[in-house]
Amino acid sequence: MNVLVVNAGSSSLKYQLFDTNTETVFAKGICERIGIEGSKIEHKQLIKGLKTEEVRDMKNHAEAMKLVVEKLLDKTYGCLSSMEEIEAVGHRVVHGGAFFSESMLLSEDVLAKLRLCHDFAPLHTPAHIQGIEGCLAVMPDTPQVLVFDTAFHQTMAPEAYMYALPYELYEKYGVRRYGAHGTSHRFVAGEMLKILGRTEGTRIVTCHIGNGSSVSAVKDGKVVDTSMGFTPLAGVEMGTRCGDIDPAIVPFMMEKLGLTPAEASNLMNKKSGFLGVSGFSSDSRDLESAVADGPANPNYERANLAINILKLQLKKLIGAYAAEMNGLDAIVFTAGIGENNTRLREIVCEDMEIFGIEINKELNAKMLRQSNIVKLSTDASRVAVYLIPTNEELLIARDTAAIVSATK
Ligand code: ADP
Repeated sequence: MNVLVVNAGSSSLKYQLFDTNTETVFAKGICERIGIEGSKIEHKQLIKGLKTEEVRDMKNHAEAMKLVVEKLLDKTYGCLSSMEEIEAVGHRVVHGGAFFSESMLLSEDVLAKLRLCHDFAPLHTPAHIQGIEGCLAVMPDTPQVLVFDTAFHQTMAPEAYMYALPYELYEKYGVRRYGAHGTSHRFVAGEMLKILGRTEGTRIVTCHIGNGSSVSAVKDGKVVDTSMGFTPLAGVEMGTRCGDIDPAIVPFMMEKLGLTPAEASNLMNKKSGFLGVSGFSSDSRDLESAVADGPANPNYERANLAINILKLQLKKLIGAYAAEMNGLDAIVFTAGIGENNTRLREIVCEDMEIFGIEINKELNAKMLRQSNIVKLSTDASRVAVYLIPTNEELLIARDTAAIVSATK
């Protein structure tokens, strides 16, 4: 089935056209600066290896969708001869609240529920809705499927998703843990389950470590706990987000620095994490290069500290989740840092004899920019450690094809 996967962000729209039978990507691209002056589309046709860029006004995501379809049908850069060849559209949706525990075929009811999720993801939800409406306008008869980043985490028990706050906050405003990156956690956990050869009785910790990072405990193929919370600010240290902190720090710093709630939120989301601790970069590559330079580099100490904070947090989560699941069969590393930062993987897995974790350090050190799954643990290791490149778009395409086929 030809499935167009759409990922509409606040001012961007990424897309990939899949043939789900062969799981190949025919074309992909990105519309940037939507609603901002100088918007442009970058389109790649992968069959012939062609690339084109065009600066064109896109006032909203609906206009961006029109331009995407135009490129897909283009005589030179396209790969389709008619719009009918797009058999389904799959949308990545950042937040589905507690409404959606699985991917859904678009309907009025589904769209109405998605609108109710606005407050949980105020930047993304309107963009998703515009993307969906854009598709409805351009291809009204093509089925659309929504794949939610929160859905995989909906299996958590109340004791895992509830905060110890007055219960009314949950009842009135839905204040609870929702988690994020669910599509990525589901994809890599699914691949790991195939390797383990079973689902029942399995205990996996999936570490999605990128610019945004989250860790999940997956027992019997279902999430029992995850590190992100009510918002993606929670959990481990990230590129610019602080992760978990003592909540009393928030009113303390607001008072000391005279910050408004929006300014405090900005400080924790945009100025913290690697950037805040190191004082010079949010990119793990920059931190690693300062660490490699050693103390001669003026950024060495704080870069090292920033990485070591994340290392310790990951170790603690692996330990906590192993306790929660009464054991551990596998750890998976994925996303920009998980797939490429060889040293972080090594120091996280170091001194973990208590769990019987042992990785092949020489092999691990060579494994970056992999497109394949790699086993990093030694044969003697009691816990399997794997690098599994994430592919959220492929999972969205698979879900979309499965749901649309089932309705035929
Ligand atoms: P996002 O969460 O925005 O999708 P990514 O998953 O791409 O982010 O992760 C970005 C992080 O991954 C950055 O800190 C970057 O340093 C790191 N990263 C990406 N590619 C590499 C690489 N080839 N080598 C080392 N680190 C990398």
